[in-house]
Amino acid sequence: MATFVKGVVFEDVDFENPDSWRLEEYVKRGGYAALQKIVNEKMTQDAVIAEMKTSALRGRGGAGFPTGLKWSFMPRSFPGQKYLVCNTDEGEPGTFKDLDIIMYNPHALIEGMIIGGFTMGATVGYNYIHGEVFEAYLRFEEALEEARKAGFLGNNILGGGFDFELHAHHGYGAYICGEETALLESLEGKKGQPRFKPPFPASFGLYGKPTTINNTETYASVPYIVRNGGQKFLELGKPNNGGTKLFSISGHVNRPGNYEVPLGMPFSELLELAGGMRNGKKLKAVIPGGSSAPVLPAEIMMNTTMDFDAISKAGSMLGSGAVIVMDEDTCMVKALERLSYFYFEESCGQCTPCREGTGWLYRVIHRIEHGQGRPEDLDLLLDVGGNIAGRTICALGDAAVMPVQGMLKHFRSEFEYHIENKRCIAPGY
Ligand code: SF4
Repeated sequence: MATFVKGVVFEDVDFENPDSWRLEEYVKRGGYAALQKIVNEKMTQDAVIAEMKTSALRGRGGAGFPTGLKWSFMPRSFPGQKYLVCNTDEGEPGTFKDLDIIMYNPHALIEGMIIGGFTMGATVGYNYIHGEVFEAYLRFEEALEEARKAGFLGNNILGGGFDFELHAHHGYGAYICGEETALLESLEGKKGQPRFKPPFPASFGLYGKPTTINNTETYASVPYIVRNGGQKFLELGKPNNGGTKLFSISGHVNRPGNYEVPLGMPFSELLELAGGMRNGKKLKAVIPGGSSAPVLPAEIMMNTTMDFDAISKAGSMLGSGAVIVMDEDTCMVKALERLSYFYFEESCGQCTPCREGTGWLYRVIHRIEHGQGRPEDLDLLLDVGGNIAGRTICALGDAAVMPVQGMLKHFRSEFEYHIENKRCIAPGY
C-alpha cells in the first residue's frame, strides 16, 4: 500500500527510492541523531520521559494511552531483566500503517526502541510482526543486521554505557495476538491467549518480568520527539493529541492509502487528500478507527476533526487510525455481517460470553442479511451484545459489540427495512 503524505514517522522519506529503508538513507535524513543526542548531552531517563510527557504522544495501536505516562510505570529500580516489546501484529480490518513503517522506514522504529530501552532500563527487546506480512519480517531482520553492524545495537551503544539487543519475531496471523498479553504468551512460545489483568505487563510481562509494550508507530515517533523536543511534536497536533498520525484510508475513495497528517485535521480535508469519494458518490458513513470503532454517519464525520478527543466526543474511537469510508450504495447489514464474522472467527474461545456471543451476533446478522430476519432480532442483538461487553477477559468481546451498537444506533431503519422487505434499501443489492 502506498503512502502519500509525510509527517513525523515518514519525515523526509523518499518513497520512490527503493533504498529509503536502508540505514545509510536513514542516517542521511537525520536518523540516529536522537540516540546520539542522548549520549552526547548525557540525557537522563527522567529527561527523556519528561519530553515524552510534554509531547502528548498517545499510543498509536488503538488505546491512545499517553506514552510518557506508560513509560514512567516501568519499575526503574527493578534489579532483574526487563523487556521492551513492539506490537507490529497489525491485523484489524482496515489497518495497514505499521507494515509501511517497516517497509519504508524500519530504522525509525529501531531507534525509537533503543531509546525506549535506555529510558526504561530494558536491555532486550522484541518486535512481534504479524505473520501474514512475512516480507516485513524479512525486511526488519535486514534492518536489524545493519543496525548491529553499525554499533547501534549491542553493548555500550555509541559509548554511552548502556546495552540493548533487539530481535524480530513473526506470528502466524491470529488477530488476538495483537492483544498485548496474548502477544506475550505467543512470544513465550505458548498458545496466544490473553491473560487476566492485573497484573499488568509493567510488573508481570514477558517471562514474568517488567515489560513495556508499544505499537510500531508509537516507537517510530520517538526519535523525532527526542531530536526536536516534546513541545515541537505537541504543536504539530493539538493539546492532549500531540503530533502527526498515520491514517490508513480504505473503502470508497479515489486514492486509498496511508496518510500521515497532524492530529486535529478536519475529516473533510483528510477525505480530500484521499482523492474524495470514488465515482462521484455521496459519503454515507465512516468507521473512523478500525473495525471495532462504532460507525458514524456522514453528517457527523464532516463536522469532526481527526483526533482522539474529537472522535470520542462524536461517539466513536480513533483507535489505530484505520478509516473505512462507505458511500451511499453501501448495505450496512452486509457491512456489519462481514465485521461480525471477523470477530466470531478471531475469538480465542477462552471465555464464554465472547466465544458464544460473537457466534450469536454473526448468525443473527447473517439471517437478517439473507432475508430470514425476525422483527425481534434487533433487540436480540442489543441484548446479546449487552451480555458480552465488559464481561470478558480481553477487549475483543467489546470490539465485537461496538460495531453492532453503532450500526443500530445510526442505521436501525435499514435493518428494519431488511427484515420487513427481505432485501436491502441501498441501490445495487
Ligand atoms: Fe478470548 Fe474473546 Fe475472551 Fe478475549 S474476550 S480472551 S478473545 S474469548
